[in-house]
Amino acid sequence: MNPFVNVHHHGPSVGLISIQNFDYWEDLELPKGFFSAGIHPWFPPTEEQWAAIQKAWDDPRCLALGECGLDRLRGPNMSEQQKELLKQLESCELPVLIHAVKVDAELWEVFQAFPSKKWVIHGAMGKWERWKKFVSEGVCFSFGMALLSDASTQETFRNIPMEQLFLETDAADLNLLESIYRQAAAIKQKEMDVVKQEIWSNFATTFEKYGT
Ligand SMILES: [Zn+2]
Repeated sequence: MNPFVNVHHHGPSVGLISIQNFDYWEDLELPKGFFSAGIHPWFPPTEEQWAAIQKAWDDPRCLALGECGLDRLRGPNMSEQQKELLKQLESCELPVLIHAVKVDAELWEVFQAFPSKKWVIHGAMGKWERWKKFVSEGVCFSFGMALLSDASTQETFRNIPMEQLFLETDAADLNLLESIYRQAAAIKQKEMDVVKQEIWSNFATTFEKYGT
């Protein structure tokens, strides 16, 4: 049986294969399992927090940079957010988990500056039109709760090739992961275990530090 993989969540996991976000704005210690570390656009770090993030990247359990990104609705002004994001992309080689809210043009600009990096846009939602050029450039997407209820998100999910997909619970209850997988299987018209196998394979290919 293939495992469930939760590519982005907050708070400790329960024995799943997963990437827990290092929530430096409230936690002093690194997560116990695999994790990601980066500057969240909502929470500009203190000097100490930024030092902790950079140090975390070298930890064998740190599989990704992030979540980091751009958010039009919350956080410092856009040019400050862009500066922070570029700083991280320049100093960390790991695949990146991106938080993106209403910043399609700005994100495209940043993406073009780092085309060879492995990109995963997390919490993906919204219309296919918004994302298709990212998809054609090989960017990966991770879907969560929006997949359960939002029709345009479901349509976008259907259009993205399986090799570019991940699933996550983000801030929601970890137990919802199975429903999200079930929904993913229904939309792709695949057996649940096939979806699990394919996402597991994407995980191993993208997050290379896993298993090393
Ligand atoms: Zn998150």
